[in-house]
Amino acid sequence: MTTEITAEVTADSARDDKIRCDACPVMCYIKPGMTGACDRYANHNGELVRVDPHVVLDRTLAQGGTVVPFHRGEWDGSILQDSNTFVTAIGAGTTYPDYKPAPFIVSAEVDGVDMVTVVTEGIFSYCGVKVKIDTDRHLGPERSIVRAQGEPVGHVTTGEYGSQMLSLGGVNHLTGGSKKEGRVTCDTLLDLCNGKPAELTIDEGVTVIVQAGRAPIVNGVLEERMRVGCGSATIGMFAKQWNGKLDEVVVVDDHITGVLSEHQAGKLLGIRDTGIKMKGRRSTPGRYFQVAEPGTGWGGTNIADPLSILGPFNKKDAWAGLRLLMVSTTGEHHAYYELDEELVPVQRELPDILRESVDRIQENCEPALSTVLFMGGAGGSLRAGVTENPVRLTRSVKNALTYVTCGGAPVYVWPGGGITFMVDVTRVPENAFGYVPTPALVAPIEFTLRLSDYAALGGHLDQVRPVTSLPPGEARRQVPHRLDNPWPFAPQQARRSHG
Ligand code: SF4
Repeated sequence: MTTEITAEVTADSARDDKIRCDACPVMCYIKPGMTGACDRYANHNGELVRVDPHVVLDRTLAQGGTVVPFHRGEWDGSILQDSNTFVTAIGAGTTYPDYKPAPFIVSAEVDGVDMVTVVTEGIFSYCGVKVKIDTDRHLGPERSIVRAQGEPVGHVTTGEYGSQMLSLGGVNHLTGGSKKEGRVTCDTLLDLCNGKPAELTIDEGVTVIVQAGRAPIVNGVLEERMRVGCGSATIGMFAKQWNGKLDEVVVVDDHITGVLSEHQAGKLLGIRDTGIKMKGRRSTPGRYFQVAEPGTGWGGTNIADPLSILGPFNKKDAWAGLRLLMVSTTGEHHAYYELDEELVPVQRELPDILRESVDRIQENCEPALSTVLFMGGAGGSLRAGVTENPVRLTRSVKNALTYVTCGGAPVYVWPGGGITFMVDVTRVPENAFGYVPTPALVAPIEFTLRLSDYAALGGHLDQVRPVTSLPPGEARRQVPHRLDNPWPFAPQQARRSHG
């Protein structure tokens, strides 16, 4: 995003050839041929125009049941079809203050029912992204500050199963710190939402490059696999395959390290005690916490030598020749040992008979990805652009009468008050997000409901126009509807697979 402000934003400017953009609180005065501070609006021969084309989704362009990726299709000049066209908010423009009706309120007849879609490019001061990074590696302690260009833009939040989680943005970073912090936060959110990479450094942790839908790069190393499960789960999954080929298996995991002979899976298979002695805190049989410190080594621990988490074998139970496999939760790290006469593990080459089981762990790992969910609050004044009685829109969304989309993509609306939603940015057409230098993010949002319900909630009925009345032209662009997104007029018919 450019940070150069090409418009003069002084309120006292009064030259006739400048026009004032009133689409956000910045209220730029824009010279002819120039764009405003956000690059979204321009002065084109004295007319205020939205620079990017207005995107409509076309269901007929999705071919033969296969998923067609979003791309910038040219307008074919045909009249918009009622039920096969969905008018998104991308490029639709913003109104400010919000008591003005939304820029487009379009009606369409779908299966004999009059529907209406209210679209606007919302300005979100209350927004951020939740980033899920599929890796076992320790990225940094929970609550550590995440920085971009040295500025604090978020924090590490609670990890999930096989993934580390970041919470970035939010109103405090956008508005509550220095001007630079707000600008860098806005830049970072915009890049991530538009599918671009962002380099993040974590206090007391790593540097990670994340990009929606791509593998994360941790300290310069591309993460290939997401773990198959925790150490205990891995024991449960593969115990049968190890039975008879090994005497002991330790699956090294920063959270829950599993030990075959002590684990319930080993007990049920009749695996005998091996006299193994684990470091760390025993939780339940065969499951150990805190065997090492977190890190970027084996199984998200800081160890490079797996034997460092073992104590001496118990002489009563162990025996010379005992076969021991130590493996990480992705299979990326593994080592095979046999006990010598002193009951000390000696590393040997992994026998062919065991290679298959290590390969099986790797085979069961999914590709590691970074996932970016945009989260914003549309429960504020934006609602007034939809209805004169904003709380009715909130109730209508909660009652599932109004279907909310972001650039035509499905969203998850949080329970409770307001309209706080999340969307997977990879399901939204490209470059759908923008910014204004207040700073805040601009995100498309559409509300689709029956025309009769729209009337009942006090909608701006005098602004409703049929979708077929939107003139074709260069300012509008058709893109194929993605078949793995529900068609907003028939969300209940969503395909569940990604084709
Ligand atoms: S920042 Fe953009 S939307 Fe806001 S007034 Fe300037 S040109 Fe208009």
